[in-house]
Amino acid sequence: MNINVITLFPEIFDSLNYGLLGKALDREDIKINIFNLRDHQLNKHGQIDDKPYGGGEGMVLMAEPLENAIKNIPSDNLGIVINLSPQGRIFSQKKAKELSTLKNITIICGRYEGIDERLISQYVDDEISIGDYVLSGGEFAALTIIDSLSRFIPGVIGNQKSVEQDSFSHGLLKGPVYTRPETFNSDDIPEVLISGDHNKIKEWRDNQSLIRTFERRPDLLKNAKLTKKQKKLLEELSSKAIL
Ligand code: SAM
Repeated sequence: MNINVITLFPEIFDSLNYGLLGKALDREDIKINIFNLRDHQLNKHGQIDDKPYGGGEGMVLMAEPLENAIKNIPSDNLGIVINLSPQGRIFSQKKAKELSTLKNITIICGRYEGIDERLISQYVDDEISIGDYVLSGGEFAALTIIDSLSRFIPGVIGNQKSVEQDSFSHGLLKGPVYTRPETFNSDDIPEVLISGDHNKIKEWRDNQSLIRTFERRPDLLKNAKLTKKQKKLLEELSSKAIL
């Protein structure tokens, strides 16, 4: 997969060179090309932004330097063009998986008050928000999106099964996890986990996943596919909550 990023702050993307993603970049399982918007500044004063028409706070990234940055990317590698914006559709695990199947994507990182709307209407295929809050720039949203979509690219995560068991993959949150020692500050791990009974362990994990989702993200339950046992547990949890 080939990911192009247009940004005013290329150095921020150095942080991708760590962990499993860093290794995947070394192997070229995934390629990230960073394009500095400053290379397309309009004049010798380095202009890339200007005051908003109609007055008001802040500056707006101009359409022309962004257009030049997009045109500078070979058309075969451009793919879909994504603008990052708090006004975009909310990013999700489903969207990460969907993006991971594409061969090329181009991500525009906004700054200041955002980018001239005409650039969006003429060049942008999709607008994505990573949540209902405002960041100072799209770079941190881009890092989030790149990291999460890369987990779906074969080879990036050593054990692809762990991605399938992640929170959201089956519509629910994953339950709690434990490792050595068995007792930490007088707190023991749940006994079933050292029972050696794989069916019981799976059942316990499925139940914990449902309980955690019920307690923390009940909104997810609306679309979750539950087993018969989970449906029964959910009825029990709901009736206890009413009491
Ligand atoms: N004034 C804009 C508004 O209220 O919609 C916010 C501009 S924000 C300060 C600057 C840039 O940060 C945006 O152009 C966008 O690229 C990025 N950004 C901010 N919040 C974001 C979010 N929740 N998701 C994705 N990108 C975001």
